[in-house]
This record gives sequence, structure tokens and C-alpha cells, in this order.
Amino acid sequence: MRKALVAANWKMHGSLAGLQTFLADLQVQDAVDSVLLPPAVYLSAAVALAPDGLACGVQDIGTAASGAHTGEIAAEMVRELGGTWAVVGHSERRLDQQEQDDLVATKAVAALRGGLAPMICVGETLAERQAGHEQAVVARQLDAVIDRIDRAVIGGVAIAYEPVWAIGTGETATPAQAQNMHEFIRSLVAAEDSQAAQQIRIVYGGSVKPGNATELFAQPDIDGGLVGGASLQADDFSAIIAAAVT
Ligand code: PEP
Repeated sequence: MRKALVAANWKMHGSLAGLQTFLADLQVQDAVDSVLLPPAVYLSAAVALAPDGLACGVQDIGTAASGAHTGEIAAEMVRELGGTWAVVGHSERRLDQQEQDDLVATKAVAALRGGLAPMICVGETLAERQAGHEQAVVARQLDAVIDRIDRAVIGGVAIAYEPVWAIGTGETATPAQAQNMHEFIRSLVAAEDSQAAQQIRIVYGGSVKPGNATELFAQPDIDGGLVGGASLQADDFSAIIAAAVT
């Protein structure tokens, strides 16, 4: 039985005052691994103020451990500050920074090198789904990274299936659409390592809200969520965490 995993992707939102209020009001659950991913500049404050049971992490990392890479943040630095997770390959970065599959894979490896668990985002655009290419796109994104991860640790990474057309749009994949893709992703991991496929958490992202979380999380291959907009308010995010308790 996989423990549910629910992560709050704050993107470039929030403030120090807002973080303090959010963490004072947030209700976590023992049965759920809950993660806060604030803008990296707030990581130290988040770690210091986080209630027991809330892990913290970052929304992206650089590939190097140190060096002449202006503006980049190393996984090792995030770990030093008490962060334990790094999102890699979010569709906004694939779009805004033109991040390609190979760079995303290198970042996943860098996260593991630095002692962080990577949450690897995959997902198709609306045009790709309308053309019937959603599985091919997700398989390509996943193939690029799975081969690069040490078999011994693969069960500890997380995959976030985030159909691009559902992120921040209010449009959610139906539970059946999401389940189909999650089952497909698990089958791809199983082709590499059947034991890891049973351990790996595959979370859904794309307009998850308190009102749709229960039905999404009830699907057999949906192990939780990566939540953007609805993670900014403590009561909404607390309700989503509660919906992941089985
Ligand atoms: C996200 O930021 O990864 C996300 C899924 O956003 P939202 O929940 O707002 O769609």
C-alpha cells in the first residue's frame, strides 16, 4: 500500500507574512506525506515554521552541485536548508525556459545526488491529446528519465502526471482520464522494474480542488496530487490533504 503524497506548488506566489499565516492554519494528516513547495527564497522560513509532518522542497533545481552558474540553486544547498523534495520538468518551465526531456532527466539525477526526492512532471498539451498522442508524449518524457535513475532508488521518486490543458485552467482531467494515464505510467515503470512500479507514487496535477480531490484520489493508480492554485489557502489545501486519507 503506497502512502498518499500531496504537494503544494506555490509557483511565484506568496509572501513571508502569507507563509506564516498559511503554516499556522494548515492541518496535515499522519496518513499523508504533505509537501510545501514555496518560491525557493522562502524555503528556510518554511522549514523553520513547518508543522510536524510537513516536508518542504523547491519547484526547480540546477544541475550542478556548485560552480559558476549565476542564479542557479544546487540540490545540495536545498538539502542543507532542510528541503527534501525538488520538482523537475514542470510544464511551465518546459514552456517558459524551453526545458527539454534530457535537461529534466539531468535535474532528476541532480536531485538524487543532492539527497532530494525528485517529483518528475510529465503531461501532454491539449493539441497533443486532441491528436491522440498523449501516451506517446508521456512515454517519451518518462523514457528520457527512467533509464537515468539508479534502480535502487527509483521507488522513492514521484511522478506527477499534469496534463498541460488542466493546469491553472479550472479544467480537470476526469478521474477516468487521469486513472488511464496513471495506469499507463505505472506500466512503463513496471517494464523497467516491477517492484519499483508498485512503490513509486504517481500524483495527479491539474486544477485539483477540495471538490474534486476525493474522486481523483480514489482511483487505484492516483497516489495523491500536485496542487497549484488551490494550495495557496490553508483551508483548501488542508481539505485536499484530508481527501487523500484512505
Ligand atoms: C501545478 O501548479 O502544478 C498545478 C497543477 O496547478 P493548478 O492546480 O492550479 O492547476
